[in-house]
Amino acid sequence: MKLNLIAGAWTEGVRAYQNINPSDTRDTIGDYTVASRAQAEEAVAAAAAAYPAWSLSTPQQRFDALDFIGSEIIARKAELGDLLAREEGKTLPEAVGEVARAGAIFKFFAGEALRPGGEMMPSVRPGVGVEITREPLGVIGLITPWNFPIAIPAWKIAPALAYGNCVVFKPAEVVPGSAWALSDIISRSGIPAGVFNLVMGRGSEVGAVLLEDPRIAGISFTGSVPTGQKVAQACVSRGAKFQLEMGGKNPFVVLDDADLNVAVGAAINSGFFSTGQRCTASSRLIVTEGIHDRFVEAMVAKLKTLKVGDARTAGTDIGPVVDDRQLAQDLEYVGIAQSEGAKLAWGGAAMPTNAEGAPGYYMQPALFTETAAAMRINTEEVFGPVVSVIRAKGYDEALHLANDTPFGLASGIATTSLKHATHFKRHAQAGMVMVNLPTAGVDYHVPFGGRKSSSYGPREQGRYAAEFYTVVKTAYTQA
Ligand code: NAD
Repeated sequence: MKLNLIAGAWTEGVRAYQNINPSDTRDTIGDYTVASRAQAEEAVAAAAAAYPAWSLSTPQQRFDALDFIGSEIIARKAELGDLLAREEGKTLPEAVGEVARAGAIFKFFAGEALRPGGEMMPSVRPGVGVEITREPLGVIGLITPWNFPIAIPAWKIAPALAYGNCVVFKPAEVVPGSAWALSDIISRSGIPAGVFNLVMGRGSEVGAVLLEDPRIAGISFTGSVPTGQKVAQACVSRGAKFQLEMGGKNPFVVLDDADLNVAVGAAINSGFFSTGQRCTASSRLIVTEGIHDRFVEAMVAKLKTLKVGDARTAGTDIGPVVDDRQLAQDLEYVGIAQSEGAKLAWGGAAMPTNAEGAPGYYMQPALFTETAAAMRINTEEVFGPVVSVIRAKGYDEALHLANDTPFGLASGIATTSLKHATHFKRHAQAGMVMVNLPTAGVDYHVPFGGRKSSSYGPREQGRYAAEFYTVVKTAYTQA
């Protein structure tokens, strides 16, 4: 049984549960324990008790801990990647890549622990000196989704610890294995008891404690828009700092002058890899008239070659959907799109078993054409392998359609025109813009985040993470 980590002790919860392999639902992966509300409060108390000493720990102490965690993750990336693929369903190469990235994030923030920033300024008054320093925020609640069960926790835990904060980590319910394995490594990094705590369980129970507890100075949340709104309301009402990364309906524009191979490669990767379960997935392909038919034909030809199957089988291009609930939602959207008049160009059917006969949450990747911008398939996040093509007259209309959404996470374009690429980078209403690249690929050392209803608050990752995980102090000294 895998337990919660509270005040440095592995602690039995109130209820046991198991996680299931979505590639083969006969395969139960492990036994986990759900924390009670009282235990979540104990974890907050432990973090609050550990905070005064940890906030004054030396940068070297924090560097050593984070460097250890990063090295350990990288050394074990094959094993952890296998667990991640088995539990979440992304393909093994994608899962190992995610784990390696998590290791790199810890290494990056090990370095950041040594340079938290700050500056000296002359005062406007004679004889007065001004120092601007960054101090840790305090005890931070981290609430994460299931789709990147190691990388997203890493991009929150690493900066939180690097800048001297204490953490209570609440992972998504369906991926306790990845969260536990990461927490196990962190528990062996030499950090004092209580600095990092793991509480597994439901959002409405364990997550809610983190939102309400006055000892929590800030919440970093990644997940859906409705949950993000609850986080925001709770934090505003008690004056806690918060950061939200939420959904997307990311556009990928394909212009007449695009290199067709580049456009198709980027669209397939962005739309369908990781089974489309990425907040940065391109689910709206906005294609101009002159290339539309050739692009659709090439997309369908490519989709026909993709192998849907067990996430851990060599040669699988697309793994299963994460669970039965998500699969039902994806299939429901396929039906909605058809009833709205969209043309199903490829896929969309449930596949109750894979080629080896194992039962799993499989579906054929679905591509819709002849869709209108106002259809639900183009306005609501599906979060699965369901992608639509919208026809545009030219660049101006394509840009307008790309921006015509309440979301603003990532926006991509395939073009060989420097003029259009430059204009798009300036005018795309998104936190991240990709030219001739999938919207779904990002670096680990630069800011990540969006605009409009996709995000709220300071950016995650890279040096910009300090904006959330630290508070600025301005000190004046009369010489
Ligand atoms: P979700 O909102 O259902 O859950 C996210 C987390 O919030 C989980 O840990 C859950 O237990 C917790 N939670 C749920 N209700 C809560 C409550 N009342 N109080 C406190 N915590 C609560 O999202 P999900 O289904 O796990 O993830 C999919 C969503 O995440 C998609 O919308 C996707 O776009 C988004 N996402 C965004 C990013 C990004 O960086 N923008 C990255 C990955 C995923």
